[in-house]
Amino acid sequence: MSSSLASMAYIGATILFILSLGGLSNPETARRGNLFGIIGMAVAVLATVFGPRVTPAGIPWIVGALVVGAAVGLIAARKVQMTQMPELVALMHSLVGLAACLVGFASYVDTSIAFEGAEKAIHEVEIYVGILIGAITFSGSIIAFGKLSARIGGKPVLLPGRHWLNLAGLLVVIWFGRVFLHAETMQGGMTALIVMTVIALLFGVHMVMAIGGADMPVVVSMLNSYSGWAAAATGFMLSNDLLIVVGALVGSSGAILSYIMCRAMNRNFISVIAGGFGSGGGAAPAAAGGAQPAGEVTPISAAETAEMLREAKNVVIVPGYGMAVAQAQHTVYEITRLLREKGVNVRFGIHPVAGRMPGHMNVLLAEAKVPYDIVMEMDEINDDFPDTDVAMVIGANDIVNPAAQDDPASPIAGMPVLEVWKAHHSIVMKRSMASGYAGVDNPLFYKENNRMLFGDAKKMLDEVLAALRA
Ligand code: NDP
Repeated sequence: MSSSLASMAYIGATILFILSLGGLSNPETARRGNLFGIIGMAVAVLATVFGPRVTPAGIPWIVGALVVGAAVGLIAARKVQMTQMPELVALMHSLVGLAACLVGFASYVDTSIAFEGAEKAIHEVEIYVGILIGAITFSGSIIAFGKLSARIGGKPVLLPGRHWLNLAGLLVVIWFGRVFLHAETMQGGMTALIVMTVIALLFGVHMVMAIGGADMPVVVSMLNSYSGWAAAATGFMLSNDLLIVVGALVGSSGAILSYIMCRAMNRNFISVIAGGFGSGGGAAPAAAGGAQPAGEVTPISAAETAEMLREAKNVVIVPGYGMAVAQAQHTVYEITRLLREKGVNVRFGIHPVAGRMPGHMNVLLAEAKVPYDIVMEMDEINDDFPDTDVAMVIGANDIVNPAAQDDPASPIAGMPVLEVWKAHHSIVMKRSMASGYAGVDNPLFYKENNRMLFGDAKKMLDEVLAALRA
């Protein structure tokens, strides 16, 4: 393929990626957006493999790597449960970071292209910055994977003087950057690169370990953004325009998503980037855990729940991570359909950080074919709870915790929540009194107008549906 044809293909792929991002911003156009993304990626890969920069001798290597990568991807996509998606995404981000590091080292030792003067300096800066971003993304994403899959505890690990440690790390990185750029031999430059890589890896671990459970959504979107910048850095190292553009698209959309998540959780964007935020000024949540809720919990049966729903005029359903675990979305839809047929006004209230990834609940409800027009954002529905007869909370916990508003000592203080306790009645469906992802007790369970429907969400909803049909 000639270089001008490859450039045309790259421009076409870029347009498809932009259309893809546009499509993904709305549930109704998301499928089309996904398709644009797939076609764009296929065009990009073909144009690269058959482009002017790949020699025939390299093709078997590329095909071999494609086969291995595609096989791993296919198996992972088939095996992974919907609830494991967030950890899979974190793992993918780590691979982008690792690729940036490996490309950086390979570019440095590759002597086939001789750079001179300013060009050499620019190339070396690209390598240094590329490996720096790649290493932070790699180790940070591995820790995020551990936290999201509960292999690592959710509590923040706060080292004494952690901001000073980060600052010292930054100064050392800048110093070794200077050493790297002035290195006379490849060995000297390599030592500086390795020292910087180790510091960047440690910084990635430190940054994510210092973040408390409930603040993880911001970290996930931030690492998403970092992975984009790592890809863009790889593009600079390889002089690949498409990779630069795509990396910048992912990096900037991830940054916008981080900003939106911060706003949704009432956190400060700058302190997120600095790491170790939302931790109550240095104390771990267990120590600063706020007041313990007191009172009695009132259980309710599935039959009684069905009775309450049947008599209600306005119902708001609040799904959370437990609905994803139980895969209860299809039964939720059946119940919604039945109630709507009986004239009950049923709507859904979606918290921006419900579940374990941005848009988690929207994806599940769309899969179950719940109409989009009854799925409301938190801001759209919060004022309606006082006029709601029954607020039904399905496997959600942190996102409906009144302590976020009432208890300034709570680790989730200040986070906007769905005010289900303002409804005439709330029913919380979960298996036990266990806390949610943030590890905080929930005073909602003890409120007088609240009932607890204990059990697996799918099983209990099946019973509610059977009772409604009876
Ligand atoms: P939570 O983790 O706060 O609560 C989920 C609840 O579901 C648990 O208390 C659990 O209680 C219950 N549950 C689990 N399995 C089942 C089941 N099979 N049937 C019924 N109930 C079940 O989830 P929320 O959605 O309320 O809040 C999301 C949390 O995750 C927030 O803290 C958010 O910050 C964090 N997070 C969000 C991310 C995002 O991007 N959206 C990313 C990372 C973290 P029990 O064990 O008693 O059943």
